[in-house]
Amino acid sequence: MVTAQGAKMKILVQMLSPCLLSVTFIAAAFLPAFTQNQEAPPQTHGVNVANMDRSVKPGDNFFEYANGEWVQRTEIPPDRPGVSVFSQLSDVSDKRTAGLIDEIAKSKPAPDSGKAKIADLYNSFMGEVAVDAKGMGPIKPHLDAIAAIADKQQLAAALGKTLRADVDALNNTNFHTPNLFGLWVAPGFDDSAHYTAYLLQGGLELPDREYYLADSEKMRDIRTKYQAHVAASLKLAGFSDPDARAERIITLEHAIAEKHLSLAEDQDVHKANNTWTQADFAKKAPGLDWAEYFRAAGLAQHANFIVWQPSAFVAESALVASTPLETWKDWLSYHLVENSAPYLSKPFADENFAFFGTVLTGQPQQRPRWQRGVILANRLLGDEVGQIYAQRYFSPDAKAQAEQMVTNIVAAFNKRIDALAWMAASTKAEAKAKLSTLYVGIGYPETWTDYSGYEVKADDLFGNVWNGTLFQYHRELARLGKDVNPREWTMFPQTVNAVNLPLQNALCFPAAILQPPFFDPQAPAAANYGAIGSVIGHEVSHTFDTEGSAFDSKGRLRNWWTPSDLSHFEEAATKLAQQYDGYEPFPGVHINGKQTLAENIADLAGIAASYDGYHASLGGKTAPFQDGFSGDQQFFIAFGQNYASKLREAMLRRQVLTNPHSPGQYRASTVRNIDGWYSSFEVQPGQTLYLAPADRVRIW
Ligand SMILES: [Zn+2]
Repeated sequence: MVTAQGAKMKILVQMLSPCLLSVTFIAAAFLPAFTQNQEAPPQTHGVNVANMDRSVKPGDNFFEYANGEWVQRTEIPPDRPGVSVFSQLSDVSDKRTAGLIDEIAKSKPAPDSGKAKIADLYNSFMGEVAVDAKGMGPIKPHLDAIAAIADKQQLAAALGKTLRADVDALNNTNFHTPNLFGLWVAPGFDDSAHYTAYLLQGGLELPDREYYLADSEKMRDIRTKYQAHVAASLKLAGFSDPDARAERIITLEHAIAEKHLSLAEDQDVHKANNTWTQADFAKKAPGLDWAEYFRAAGLAQHANFIVWQPSAFVAESALVASTPLETWKDWLSYHLVENSAPYLSKPFADENFAFFGTVLTGQPQQRPRWQRGVILANRLLGDEVGQIYAQRYFSPDAKAQAEQMVTNIVAAFNKRIDALAWMAASTKAEAKAKLSTLYVGIGYPETWTDYSGYEVKADDLFGNVWNGTLFQYHRELARLGKDVNPREWTMFPQTVNAVNLPLQNALCFPAAILQPPFFDPQAPAAANYGAIGSVIGHEVSHTFDTEGSAFDSKGRLRNWWTPSDLSHFEEAATKLAQQYDGYEPFPGVHINGKQTLAENIADLAGIAASYDGYHASLGGKTAPFQDGFSGDQQFFIAFGQNYASKLREAMLRRQVLTNPHSPGQYRASTVRNIDGWYSSFEVQPGQTLYLAPADRVRIW
C-alpha cells in the first residue's frame, strides 16, 4: 500500500493488473499505459541525494526535504493522472517483462515447452493479419450454440458453462465478473485447511452496479453511450434489430444491478460466510435450474458452497425464471461478443476499446499491440513468464537479504506486542501465534503452476484465450476439497505489488517490488529498512489491525480480540486520526483522518517495527555514513522517498475524498511520531512537524 493509487486494504496498490486471472477479456483495456522510453529511476545505491531539497528543514517539511528536487524536475506524463516512484518502477518492470517475452518469442524454443507456449501465445496475438482474416469466425460456433437454446433447462446449462474462476474476494480483491456468477477457490472461512468453493454475484458488463444506478449526469451519459455500444457490437456480429436487443439486454443488466450488493458491502467478510449445500440453491433461490447449472459447470459432485451475496443469488435466479428466454439468449450472445472482442478482428477490438477504453477510462488511444500481447502472456502464462523473470532479475543473494529483513522486522513486532500495556494476555498470545505461523513469500513462489495441460497454438488467438481461461477454471476445480498449501502465491514475480492473504496468514512480496528504489542488495541496510522494510512492516501490521483481527492464526474467520482490546486500540487510533485531520492540502479541504486511519496506523506501525528491525540488524555496531548521512538519517530519508509522488490537482482532490491512503507527503510526515527522527535531524520545538513527546502517537 505504497502509492497514491491504492484503493483497497489488502493489496499494495489496486489496479487491474495482468495477474488477475480473469475471463474478463476486456480487462486488458483498463491497464495503465506504460511507455517504453520512460526514464528509469537513477541507479544510485541507498538514499538518492539528488532527489532531496536540503534547503528545507526536515522538521518543517520532511516530504520536501526528502523529495524536493525530484518534485521539481519530474513532469507528469500527459496520459497519466500523476507520477510516483512506484509508477516509475512499474514501468521498468513492464519493460523488462516485455523484453523477456520478446526474447523468448524470437528464440525458437522446443515444441510444447513452457517457453514455446509463451512464444506461441504471444505470436498468436501479434499475428494481426491472420486474426483479422478470421473476422468473427472463431465465435460463430458458440453463437450458434446459444441460438439453438430451446428452453430454460438448456439455458441453465449454457449459463453453467460460462462459470469461470475469475473473481477473488480477499486476496487480489476482484469482485467483478460479466458471467452470471463467478467462482473463487480458496481456503474456507471455517475450515482454512481445505480449498472451498466461493460463489460471487455477477452478470454485468459495466464495472459496478453504480454505473447502472447512479443518478448523476456523468453516469447517465455513460449509460447512453453504453446502449449505443451494445447495439453496435450486436450489429457487427450480424444480429437483426440490434437497437431493440440492446435495450432488452441493458434492462436485464439493470435489473441484476439493482439486486447486487455494493462494493462496500462486499468487503464485509462477516456477511459473506453463508454455506449452502447444493440442494439449498433450489430451495433458497428458486428460478434457475441449479442441478443443470452445476452439472454444466462441472460441479455436480460438489456438495457445499460459500455464497458471498445470498440476496443477489436469490434475485438473479428469479430473473432467470421471470425474463423471457430470448432476452437471456441475447444477453449471452452480447456477453460472448464483448468478452471476445479484443481477440477478434479489428472492428470488434476497436468497438470494444472505444467504449471500455475511451469512454470508461478516458484513454484516447489503444496501446501498441506488442504491449497488449505481453499483458495476455502474463495473464495466461504468468508463472511460466515469472520463473524466467525471477531467475533473470532476482538473485539468491537479494532473496536471502530480504528474508533476513523480514525475520528482523517480525522479531521487532514480537517485542512490541510483549510491551503493549493495553492488550489482554490472551489476545497477545494469539497475536504472537499469528506471527509465528505467518508466511512471508519473498520474490517468487516455492512451487510453480504446471501449464502442461494447456494447449497453445501459434495461429489460434481466440482458441488460446478460450482454452487458457478454461484451463485455469479446471485447475481450480481440481483443488476443491484438497489440503491448502499455506505458501501458495496469488501474484506473479513480475507484478509490482504486494499482497496480504488473510485466509493463509501470509504475505507476498513479488520480485518486481523488491527492486530499487524500494530494495537494493547493494544499498546500505539503513536505506533498505527505511524503504522496503517499512512496507513489509506495514503489511505485517495489517495482520493485527481491525481487519486482521477477523482472522486467527490458522486463517479462520474468528474474532480473537477482546472488546476491551478493541476499545483501547480505537482510543489510541483516535489520536492519530486527529493528527491527520489537521492536514490541509487545499484551503478548507482536510485529510479525513478516519477514512485513512487503517493505512496511517499501518504506516506508523511499519516504520516503527522496521526501525527496531534495522537497529537489531546492526548487532551493536555503528552504521557507516553515506553522503554525509548517519544510518538513522538514511533510514528516515529512504522512508520519505517511498512517497515521492506528484498528482494533478483533480487527482489529489479525488484521492483526498475517496482513497483510504493519505497523499504521499502526509505519509512521509508520519516520522514525526518516532522519537529517533527527532534526534537524527535535531528537530526543534516550533518547527512545523514538531510534536511534544506526549503528543507522539504510539499504537503498536
Ligand atoms: Zn495498507
